[in-house]
Amino acid sequence: DDDYPPSVEARKDKLLSGLLAVGHDERSCVSRYQSVLYRKELLHKPSPHLISRLRSYEALHKRCGPYTESYNKTLEMLKTKHRLESTDCNYLVWISFSGLGNRILTLASAFLYALLTNRVLLVDPGVDMVDLFCEPFPEVSWFLPPDFPLKSQFNSFDQKSPYCYGRMLKNSTFANSSRLISSSFIYLHLVHDYDDQDKLFFCDEDQTTLQKVPWLILKTDNYFVPSLFLMPSFDQELSNLFPRKETVFHFLGRYLFHPTNPVWGLITRYYHAYLAKADERIGIQIRVFDTGTGPFQHVLDQIIACALKEDLLPRVSREKPIINQSQKSKAVLITSLSAGYFERVRDMYWEHPTVTGEVISVYQPSHEEYQQTEKRFHNRKAWAEMYLLSLTDVLVTSSWSTFGYVAQSLGGLKPWILYKPENQTAPDPACRRAMSMEPCFHAPPFYDCKAKRGIDTGALVPHVRHCEDMSWGLKLV
Ligand code: GDP
Repeated sequence: DDDYPPSVEARKDKLLSGLLAVGHDERSCVSRYQSVLYRKELLHKPSPHLISRLRSYEALHKRCGPYTESYNKTLEMLKTKHRLESTDCNYLVWISFSGLGNRILTLASAFLYALLTNRVLLVDPGVDMVDLFCEPFPEVSWFLPPDFPLKSQFNSFDQKSPYCYGRMLKNSTFANSSRLISSSFIYLHLVHDYDDQDKLFFCDEDQTTLQKVPWLILKTDNYFVPSLFLMPSFDQELSNLFPRKETVFHFLGRYLFHPTNPVWGLITRYYHAYLAKADERIGIQIRVFDTGTGPFQHVLDQIIACALKEDLLPRVSREKPIINQSQKSKAVLITSLSAGYFERVRDMYWEHPTVTGEVISVYQPSHEEYQQTEKRFHNRKAWAEMYLLSLTDVLVTSSWSTFGYVAQSLGGLKPWILYKPENQTAPDPACRRAMSMEPCFHAPPFYDCKAKRGIDTGALVPHVRHCEDMSWGLKLV
């Protein structure tokens, strides 16, 4: 027929097999429909159930989102602090908290929890969320309006706050019990320092209590999805949504997180200038949690040991000065706060020929030296770099880093994880392949809600395991 060969538009699956809704304005967020041009085809398809739940979530969001009649009505209850009658719409407010990688993971966790509990997710814009992310839902914003009554308290919410769920359980005074029964809002503290009572969030019984609360306000810096998979009340629905469990963040991330046009500009300009023409792209994400200024020799040794041993990069020849050049080129994209590692890898491939004759080019978009969470261009670059890493073919990441988790999961990549160095020495082996592309939950509960005692939650079901990079963490495989 005359549509053969099909155009890029027709050939490429720009709605990601139904994951994305039609009807968004394309120009206000170019990345939403163009990202497909930069990515490999989806490894797995989203389940029909996930697609249908996303469409019904969008309808709910439209009916209940900011400034709708239902929103205004439910907001009234917040002002009086009491819930009087049952509500038509219930909400989950996500507080902007912690580094960008952490925030991306917690927001996806919050969205999944909202899906499971039929809540409307509202996002505290913090200082930079509007600048970094497009609206994911059609027509009605996901951002919490600036006049939201509790907004000024977000920073001070902690385990000691009177409306903190864990605290209410701990001091079960008359005031607290009646608060639990009648309060229009509850603060959920799921930050890494949370205690045993806060962790009861992950018990079915507690979910029954929380179900009736119209406003849940959430602060977390953890990807808590793996523990949702251990809750009997969510188990069946999660299996239907995600027949392949390791695709949770992959699909939710690609559904929710679309870079705004300025960030998309950073991504696409960089991609075309440095990465597009290579035969293969290799991402190396370097995050050093040691104190002191790098670059550290042991970290450099480790990166090179991993890349050579796993055959990700070719060896160089220090004896033979010139070897025939093959046509094959590999582009290495390094991300790090420091420039030192990049310089050393680049120099190695300039000063010596590769034994395979492959041409290796090495790039690093920025070296910001230290974390500067409040600066606009800093965060744009951080987001652009996570995204660029997700566009590579082969990925090496650092232990414990949510920055790396976002890149691997968005990209659908099982990275080689660099083990965390101890005592300033490169570990041997230097790295290992991840079991799955899923992020690791760093601070999971170890509690059996039914038996009311401690348990190893990483040994209960085959799909929730301890992480490669953090022995007490949990991840989906
Ligand atoms: P994590 O601390 O590695 O889990 O990742 P987060 O993203 O939560 O916090 C680290 C923050 O440090 C990032 O958000 C950036 O602001 C900054 N950062 C760390 N590594 C890099 C990097 O390679 N490139 C850039 N541009 N920023 C980085």
